[in-house]
Amino acid sequence: MTETPRTRETRPAAPASSRSGAVRETKKPQVRPATEGWTQQKDAEGRPLLQFASPKRGKPPVHLADLTPAERIDKVKELGLPGFRAKQLATHYFRHYTSDPEQMTDLPADTREQLVAGMLPPLLTEVRRLETDRGDTIKFLWRLHDGALVESVLMRYPGRITLCVSSQAGCGMNCPFCATGQAGLTRNMSTAEIIEQIVRANRLIAEGGLGGKKADDHSMERVSNIVFMGMGEPLANYKRVMDAVRTMVAPQPDGLGMSARGITVSTVGLVPAIKKLADEGIPVTFALSLHAPDDHLRDELIPVNSRWKVDEALDAAYDYYAKTGRRVSIEYALIKDMNDHAWRADLLADKLNQRGRGWVHVNPIPLNPTPGSIWTSSDKDVTDEFVRRLNDAGIPTTLRDTRGKEIDGACGQLVATTEDEAASAALA
Ligand code: SF4
Repeated sequence: MTETPRTRETRPAAPASSRSGAVRETKKPQVRPATEGWTQQKDAEGRPLLQFASPKRGKPPVHLADLTPAERIDKVKELGLPGFRAKQLATHYFRHYTSDPEQMTDLPADTREQLVAGMLPPLLTEVRRLETDRGDTIKFLWRLHDGALVESVLMRYPGRITLCVSSQAGCGMNCPFCATGQAGLTRNMSTAEIIEQIVRANRLIAEGGLGGKKADDHSMERVSNIVFMGMGEPLANYKRVMDAVRTMVAPQPDGLGMSARGITVSTVGLVPAIKKLADEGIPVTFALSLHAPDDHLRDELIPVNSRWKVDEALDAAYDYYAKTGRRVSIEYALIKDMNDHAWRADLLADKLNQRGRGWVHVNPIPLNPTPGSIWTSSDKDVTDEFVRRLNDAGIPTTLRDTRGKEIDGACGQLVATTEDEAASAALA
């Protein structure tokens, strides 16, 4: 692994509103982002390469979850079968989480195989499953039809079950701290490949495979919350992600019958797509992964900031709130000596308050610590000070936990390792 030198700089001038703790922070160094152990791809001008278009690869087979209810009927008819079979199949898939013809006893035995082959082709092959938190957190590694590898992470919390889903194989946004971004974008995932992650998780839960369930708890028998924080930048795969969201919220048996409010769509700041999302009329929770309030740092930390600056991303986030009435989340991974300065908490608070009150909530996330890395989580007192300053400035701020870090299932850690590749090859 290449050792990356730490670069230290003096900080830019603090904003006018910096408060008393600023005395202590003047001694705090500034570590600048750099990649560790890999080389960031650059464009002709030497800027980090951004890949928005999905490379052309063979498309996954068309699946029931790629189609609207009307299209499902047409497809069943194309197979020479009565259209009403489409709804029966959708019930098996979205309500009973099965693609197994043996279990579809309400369908004529002689057409089940044909229907399933035509409408529910296999999309995800499970390569590995890793568990932690006494079985309450499970990371799945899936192989797609073309060999691409993606992951999802299932987490049981008191009162809810959350699935972190992938929307792309790899990612083209090239963020230097992110394991997923290192390999670039392999391809966009299809709508059905996104949905299938949820159906497979629901199947596992129904079979009792997610630990910690209380015997008398009937409320948590399926995934209740979705976060698009697995592999990929969801808004770079806009159409398929939104089709998947529509299928998640469609009442059963046309879809999964989930609440839009339990679905979080996150982005590093693709401003035109945020504007589009605000006009969709689906009240999902919107999260902006900001990680720095100043362009000076964010240009390096989140390369897409070279296209859309901090203020543009925040304006788009505020417009999302103004149009939908849904409070926006700002995600902020706290990285030691890089973005955790008290003046940055003040600057963030100022920028949020300038746009109004009550429209936003900040979620600082301690970065998953890697000893000796420049990507190390902030010290506890620094974290507490960061949170305190935001709260004191009237910005509701909650420190998020980083579930799954022991299994590399936390944000920024989802990447196929060489071991994963080997396990996948052994299955092929
Ligand atoms: S942090 Fe998100 S947007 Fe950036 S490279 Fe990783 S997956 Fe992509």
